Amino acid sequence: MMRDAAQFNPLDASDSRVTRPAFWGALPERWTSEVEETLVCCHVWQETHDVKSFFLRSPQGRTFSFEPGQFLTLELEIDGEAINRCYTISSSPARPHTLSITVKRVPGGKVSNWLHDNLRPGVSLRVLGPAGEFTCARHPAPKYLFLSAGSGVTPLMSMSRAHHDLAEDRDIVFVHSARTPDDIIFARELELIASSLANFRTSFVCERVGARTDWSGVTGFLSLPLLKLIAPDFMEREIFTCGPAPYMKAVRDLLDEAGFARERYHEESFSFETLTAEAEAPVEQPPADSSVETASFKITFAKSRREIQCGAQQTVLDAARQAGVRLASSCSQGMCGTCKVKLVSGQVEMKHSGGIRQREIDQGMALLCCSKPLSDLVVDK
Ligand SMILES: Cc1cc2nc3c(=O)[nH]c(=O)nc-3n(C[C@H](O)[C@H](O)[C@H](O)COP(=O)(O)OP(=O)(O)OC[C@H]3O[C@@H](n4cnc5c(N)ncnc54)[C@H](O)[C@@H]3O)c2cc1C
Repeated sequence: MMRDAAQFNPLDASDSRVTRPAFWGALPERWTSEVEETLVCCHVWQETHDVKSFFLRSPQGRTFSFEPGQFLTLELEIDGEAINRCYTISSSPARPHTLSITVKRVPGGKVSNWLHDNLRPGVSLRVLGPAGEFTCARHPAPKYLFLSAGSGVTPLMSMSRAHHDLAEDRDIVFVHSARTPDDIIFARELELIASSLANFRTSFVCERVGARTDWSGVTGFLSLPLLKLIAPDFMEREIFTCGPAPYMKAVRDLLDEAGFARERYHEESFSFETLTAEAEAPVEQPPADSSVETASFKITFAKSRREIQCGAQQTVLDAARQAGVRLASSCSQGMCGTCKVKLVSGQVEMKHSGGIRQREIDQGMALLCCSKPLSDLVVDK
C-alpha cells in the first residue's frame, strides 16, 4: 500500500522515501583535488556586512582531510581571465563532510567581490589543495595564543573549531582585532566556544566603536601592555598570528620588545603584496670570485618568441622579471598556482608549496616562481 504525503515520517527508516544522507554509515572516500577538481557550493552565510562564508562539498560526497589552518586555491575564470586566489579553510577538520571558506570583500578586488556576488548554492568551483604549513597541528603545545585581525581570523577559527570539536584540553587565548564591533567575524561562535571550554578565552580589540552603543570591550590597537593584561602568561604560549601586513609587523615588534622566542612564533600573511615586493627586490648577484654556481640556461617563451638567460640559482620568474618579460604571478612562493605553465622541453628543480597537482607535474607543468632551471627550457608562453 502506498503511503500518502501526510503519513510520511522522515524518521521511519522502513519507508523507502526516507533517503539517508550520503554521510550516514561508512565514511566515504577522501576528496583530493588530484582526482576531483571541482567542489560545489551548498550554503552561503553572511558573517558580517562585508564577509561571507561559503560552504562547499564534493559532488561525489567525498570527505575532506586537512590540517586546521590550511588553505585552498580557487582556480577561477572571471571575464575570460584565468585567475587564482588562496582562501583558508575556516571550518573544522573534525567535520569532514563539507568545508567552508570565509571571504572578506576587498574594495576593487576581483575575486572576493566575484565570490560575494556569484557564488551561491549549486555553483561549482575548481579547487586545488589543501596546502599550507600554518597549523597548530604541527606545533603541539599545552598553551596557545592566537592573534588575528580582520579576515586573518580564518585559520585560527579553524584551529579553534577543531579544538572544540575534539574537546582538546589545551589552554587557548584568542585575541582578535577588528575595525569596529560590527566587523568582528565569528564573534558569537567564539563566545560560544569560550563558554563551553574551560580553558578557551577570547578577547576582542576594536579600533573604534563604530555604530554600536553597547560595546564594553577594548578599543584601540593591540599593544604590549594590553597583551600583558589579556594574557599575562603570553611568554609561555605558542603564538599563531594572521592578519594584514601592518598588524603582523606590530605584533612582531611587540613580541620582540618582550623578548619572545621566535621559534614559538608562527605567522601567515594573506597579502601577497609584501611577499611579491620581497620577491621583486633586486636579486643579490654573487661576487665575481664566488664559487657559487654561475651556470646559466636559455629560457625560450614559445608563444611570445622571447629568449632570456636564467642563472642556475635563479627562479625562472625572477629571470623573466629582470629581462622585462611580463608573466602572471601572485604569491611568488609556489602556493597560489598563478604562474603555472607547460614546459615544452627542459627540466627544472621545483620547490612548491601546494600550488600544483602531482598529476600536473607529471604532465610537464611547472610553477615558474619556484622553479630553477636544470637545463635550457622551452616554456609554452
Ligand atoms: C594563504 C592565503 C590565505 C588566504 N585566506 C583568506 C581568507 O580566509 N579570507 C579572505 O578574505 N582572504 C584570504 N586571503 C586573501 C585572498 O587570497 C585575496 O587576496 C583577497 O580576497 C583579495 O583578492 P581579490 O581578487 O578580491 O583582490 P585583488 O583583485 O587581488 O585586489 C587586491 C587589492 O589590490 C587592488 N588592485 C588590484 N589590481 C590593482 C592594480 N592594477 N593597481 C592598483 N591596485 C590594484 C584592489 O583594488 C584591491 O584593493 C588569503 C590569502 C592567502 C595568501
